[in-house]
Formats: sequence, structure tokens, C-alpha cells
Amino acid sequence: MPAISILPEDVANRIAAGEVVERPASVVKELVENALDAGSSRIAVEVRQGGRRLIRVRDNGCGMDPEDAQVAFERHATSKIRTADDLWRVRTMGFRGEALAAIASVARVRLVTGTPGATWGTLGEVEGGKRVGAREAPPPGGTVVEVRDLFYNAPARLKFLRSPQTEISHISRLVGRMALGWPSVAFRFHHGGRQILDLSPGRQEEDRLCQVFGEALAAMMIRVEEEGRGFRIHGFASIPTLTRYDRGYQEIFVNRRPVRSPLLQSAVTEAYHDLVPKGRHPLLVLYLETEGDGVDVNVHPTKREVRFRDQEVVRILVVRALRRALGGSRSQESGVRSQ
Ligand code: ADP
Ligand code: MG
Repeated sequence: MPAISILPEDVANRIAAGEVVERPASVVKELVENALDAGSSRIAVEVRQGGRRLIRVRDNGCGMDPEDAQVAFERHATSKIRTADDLWRVRTMGFRGEALAAIASVARVRLVTGTPGATWGTLGEVEGGKRVGAREAPPPGGTVVEVRDLFYNAPARLKFLRSPQTEISHISRLVGRMALGWPSVAFRFHHGGRQILDLSPGRQEEDRLCQVFGEALAAMMIRVEEEGRGFRIHGFASIPTLTRYDRGYQEIFVNRRPVRSPLLQSAVTEAYHDLVPKGRHPLLVLYLETEGDGVDVNVHPTKREVRFRDQEVVRILVVRALRRALGGSRSQESGVRSQ
């Protein structure tokens, strides 16, 4: 990974501003994104008391050298973009250079990191935004970030945390969602010593689909595949007899980034409109990939939203992808496993 630098002010000012640390799951999201950007193949998440006491994310990625580990907690410190133009070409999950700074301003954070082959790694500690320690440490074979006492200095936000079970279910869904986006990466999630998720690396996307949605549901989903106008769409969609009352099982990824997109959701509804009863929603895991610069990811600070340069092209493509998949499946009841 290129070295970290602080974004110049004019670039920093172009980045969608706002709070990203709302609850433990948002911390997990940012840390897991960093682990993915570091090229990790194993990511382990461990939390205590629903994440209020401790959130620990360990990865086996490229790590940071001592200089980078020093600046990583600064605002606008990123190795992922340099200029405003880069914003249109972002391929990493992160680019804002704000997450570590934001997390460290509302918690006690310890970072241990090292680059492959280095004899020494770095241990850095930041509390409530203040650097409280830095020294050499044995390299952990990647990076470990520990976040303790989240919101200890932000009582107003602490008040909004829900029960540990609720926070755990948010984290669990988040990890499952990231795992769907990155099928070949192993994910683990532990809460207070209890294993909640253990997702071994999938050889194929459908392996991960089965792990996250379960074999029974995956068996009722068909493959989607479509290409055109600089986009590739692929993934899995449920046969029309398998629907839910909500969109809880609809996961859409744009260049591996999980997004919430009213545009894409309405394309899904349109594709299924005459096949499912009103108010019911199909299950879906859809990956949109594009090499081009047709996607703006700098819309919202949490990076959950994207904007397409040409919305209509994307909408039509998604509808066509689903209609074709569903048309092809009309005569068969079988899902991805038995095709
Ligand atoms: P961003 O991800 O938007 O660049 P962050 O505040 O999340 O900003 O991280 C700052 C920088 O610290 C990253 O750009 C990256 O270079 C480095 N970094 C953070 N986490 C890791 C990690 N797990 N492994 C390697 N480098 C990391
Ligand atoms: Mg980041």
C-alpha cells in the first residue's frame, strides 16, 4: 500500500462530511473495511458487552510501518487517495481518512501493526483523540485494533446504545454482509468468548451465500449474470415463491461495497412486479462491478450510498439481469447448488 499522507485541504473539503461512529457496528464496519483494504485473507472480530467494553479486529493484511502507524490516527490521513479526481476512481473500501481519527476521539484505542518481514512492529495508543503512547512491539502478522470503552467521553451517544443483544445482532449482520461482499476472505466473529460466526473462505460465491443465508434459502436462489455498458452484474436472486415481508435479505454490492440504493431496490421491485404478491420482497445478493468512473462513492460519510453517473443505464441493466435469470428459471425449481 502507498504511504499515508494527510489530504490537502481542498481535497478534504470535497469529502462528504459527517459522523461515522454511531454504534459498535459502525466501528466494526470501518475496521473491517481497513482490514479488507490491507489485502487480508483472514479477519477476526471480537467484542465484549455488545462492543461497549471492547471491539477488537485482527487481520493478516499488509500492516503499517512505524511512520504510517504514527499518522494513521490524524484526520484526513489516508493512503488510498491523493487528489479530488481519485474520488471517481476509488476501488478501496476506505478513502476518507477519517475513521481511525473519529473512533479514537470517542474511545480508548490501541493499535498493534507491522509490515511483513519486519522484526519490530508498532504499538500506538490513543485516548479520546490524544496520543498516549507509542513504542515498538512484536509484529502481529498484520494489524490488531482494539477499541475500548466506546463513547466513554460522549455520554450523549452512549445513551443511544441498545442492549448488548441488539448491538450484537447489528454487528453480526454487518459481518455477514461484508463477508458476502468478500467471499474468499475468512471471517470470524466472537462475543464474550462465544463464537457467533465462523466463515471459512469460500471457493466460490455460492459457498459464501450458503454460509450466510443458509443452505435451505440458497437452494431456492438462482444465478444472475449480465453485462453491458461498462457494467457487469452477477449474483443470486430468489425464485418468486421465496419472498419476505421486508428487504432484510437483499444485499447489493457496488464494486464489493455494500450499498443501500433506492434506485437499485426499485429496479428489483420492477423486475419481480408481476411475479410476487404486492408488499413481498425477493431475496437477493447482487454484485455490480464496473471498471469505469461511473460511480460516485463520495455521497455519504458512512459510504453506504452511491450515485451513478447514468442511473437509467444501471436501472435497465439490473431489471434485464433479473428478468433474464427469472425467465430462464421458470421451468425449474432448482437453486444454484443443483444447476
Ligand atoms: P481510510 O481507510 O479512509 O484511508 P482510516 O482512518 O480508516 O482512513 O485509516 C487511515 C489509514 O491507516 C489507511 O488509509 C491505511 O493506510 C491505514 N490503515 C488503517 N487500518 C489499517 C489496517 N488494518 N492495515 C493496514 N493499514 C491500515
Ligand atoms: Mg478506513
